[in-house]
Amino acid sequence: MEGRVALVTGGGRGIGRAIAVRLAESGTKVAVSYRTNDEAAEETARLVREAGAECELFKSDVASSDDVAALIKGVSEAFGPVEILVNNAGTTRDNIMMRMKDAQFDEVIATNLKGTYLCTRAVLRGMVRARWGRIISVSSVVGLIGNAGQANYAASKAGIIGFTKSIAREVGNRGITANTVAPGYIKTELTAGLPEEITERVLGQVPIGRLGEPEEVAEVVAFLAGEGAAYVTGQTLAVDGGMVMQ
Ligand code: NDP
Repeated sequence: MEGRVALVTGGGRGIGRAIAVRLAESGTKVAVSYRTNDEAAEETARLVREAGAECELFKSDVASSDDVAALIKGVSEAFGPVEILVNNAGTTRDNIMMRMKDAQFDEVIATNLKGTYLCTRAVLRGMVRARWGRIISVSSVVGLIGNAGQANYAASKAGIIGFTKSIAREVGNRGITANTVAPGYIKTELTAGLPEEITERVLGQVPIGRLGEPEEVAEVVAFLAGEGAAYVTGQTLAVDGGMVMQ
């Protein structure tokens, strides 16, 4: 992967940060986008550079078509066309269905699903031209099995899986693969706020018996981004301690 250009959306914190650092260790140049948290993104950039890679930060909302166009242009000017896209930016607005507000539904779909679409569309032409590309999108086990109180999130994450399979079919013969990783419960700020009884309940469904680390998701993303995964496309790889066995 030496010298390849990678873009990790939502790489300011959590799983995205771990992916950015792991790709840096594989020798890619790393562009990182985030929405608001400058301080966290600066820390990601420091870690990526410490791992020996060039890093550029972009404050950019994946749900905005204009922001994404500027993001992809910016990465291209800094490093060249994006060759490895990791659609990681994601958010939650949990509520039970009877109380779900339109804004909660729309915000989650806009960031998780539309963001994946906008970024993928923006990089695809360059990948087709180069006859090489890797698109890795971060879904969730919730997109596979659902979760009470997260119908909006589950719909967005299941949507990413169908979206990815379609892209895999469209551009498979151009040297481009598109895959999804579906993390289970991973230790990040997204899960830090969960009440203890929910964490205990979740752990009861995880054969490996603990929450996952962001680095464990990053390892699988790095595999899918590499040359060794050239014949793997349209797949969903769960990184969940065995929670969902397909
Ligand atoms: P965090 O909340 O820790 O980090 C989310 C990152 O995404 C931040 O960098 C944030 O930017 C960025 N982001 C959020 N919304 C936008 C947006 N509209 N535009 C650009 N960037 C945005 O999340 P995790 O690391 O836990 O999750 C990463 C991905 O993994 C998500 O897609 C999530 O759904 C998925 N996932 C996580 C699981 C877990 O257990 N943690 C389980 C399954 C899936 P900023 O820092 O500026 O706010």
